[in-house]
Amino acid sequence: MTDDASVIGAGTPDGLERLWTPHRMAYIKGENKPTGPDSASTGCPFCEMPKLDDDEGLIVARGALVFCVLNLYPYNAGHVMVCPYRHVADYTDLDDAETAELASVTQRAIRVIRYVSAADGFNIGMNQGRVAGAGIAGHLHQHVVPRWGGDGNFMPVIARTKVLPQLLTDTRRLLADAWNSSAVDE
Ligand SMILES: [Zn+2]
Repeated sequence: MTDDASVIGAGTPDGLERLWTPHRMAYIKGENKPTGPDSASTGCPFCEMPKLDDDEGLIVARGALVFCVLNLYPYNAGHVMVCPYRHVADYTDLDDAETAELASVTQRAIRVIRYVSAADGFNIGMNQGRVAGAGIAGHLHQHVVPRWGGDGNFMPVIARTKVLPQLLTDTRRLLADAWNSSAVDE
């Protein structure tokens, strides 16, 4: 990612003003990471996101028991997370219905990202517990990270989201629009 790309991506000051809502983004960035025990849902970003509208919360899709949300600081463009609504820390805390929906929404996310961006592969998984690298250890989240040969040489519009939070809105819309499209399954 070059500085030039970020300048191009910034667009007009007017556009930036419309799209950028820093007061909302603070939730997602985890600037106010919960300081209490992991069992406390108060202030947990993954508990707060679903309360926002889809654009503000960067929600790609909402299931009955789990939701799919864009990562604000993606490892790669299109990096999403699948989380239960319920504030639980451990994979074994999920009940059968949550486990099944976490799996099916993860599958859907893979299909949608592949359809939208022609990803060559994926890294899928959870970091469980702080010792394993979980940034927000109190609320389980499954990462779905698309990979390309030579990561980064694909749709420039999406690639810019790595540096420009407001363009995550565009990525979210792309994925959300494809989510319920039957074209994904063809
Ligand atoms: Zn939570």
